[in-house]
Amino acid sequence: MKTISAQLRKAAAKLLFPDNSYCAVCKRLLFSGDIPLCEKCAGKITPPSERVCGSCKGVILPHEFFCANCSPLKEVFASSFCYTDYDETSKRFIREFKYNGYSQAAVYAGRLIAKEMHKEVLHNRADMVLCVPISEKKRAERGYNQADLIAREISRICNIMYPGDVIRMKRMPEDQIGKNFEERRENVRDLFEVPENIEVEGKRILLIDDVVTTASTLTACATPFRERKALSVSFAVYAAAKFALESD
Ligand SMILES: [Zn+2]
Ligand SMILES: [Zn+2]
Repeated sequence: MKTISAQLRKAAAKLLFPDNSYCAVCKRLLFSGDIPLCEKCAGKITPPSERVCGSCKGVILPHEFFCANCSPLKEVFASSFCYTDYDETSKRFIREFKYNGYSQAAVYAGRLIAKEMHKEVLHNRADMVLCVPISEKKRAERGYNQADLIAREISRICNIMYPGDVIRMKRMPEDQIGKNFEERRENVRDLFEVPENIEVEGKRILLIDDVVTTASTLTACATPFRERKALSVSFAVYAAAKFALESD
């Protein structure tokens, strides 16, 4: 079996099981459609590794993205939650729902976040879940916004209100990939708007995305909520990439 490439296994799985029953990480065929991962790969998804703040050298709490002591992000976000690291396993898993149409994997990412958040009681810190939008072009290519699928599942499991994929982009930003921290922040500054009919004032908002790198996009996404007097803005993502934010 080792001579069969992952791509071939995936193609065979799609043919035999049109409901996308293959492992989103190793592409192995799955015979039960409940979760889009084989047991072995599911075991490889671990909580984020322990991180030390680049500035104050304090330990960053498990599942938190930024240093609660000294990060500038604490001025923007009441809390953060990352399910896992953006490691090789996460990259493969995310690639399937971002670029290969495996929407079931995004829903499952939402389920993992929601179950862990229940333990972490983060759901007690939110009145409304919202997702980071993607461009119309990407939405047309993918057929969905992966963050919308993740947010929907979190809303369903944690029983938090979700008004849908309603945050809008005012213009088309350049790709964030290859940009440094300053360029990323500038690229998305004042990019997002929230429809007037969404009641924001006094609410605790939980923003959802698949990956966080510098939190520039999430910070820009938080701006309209802060301007419209949300009580707090937090975020939860599936995976956190290692980016030396605290030392910037
Ligand atoms: Zn697998
Ligand atoms: Zn610190």
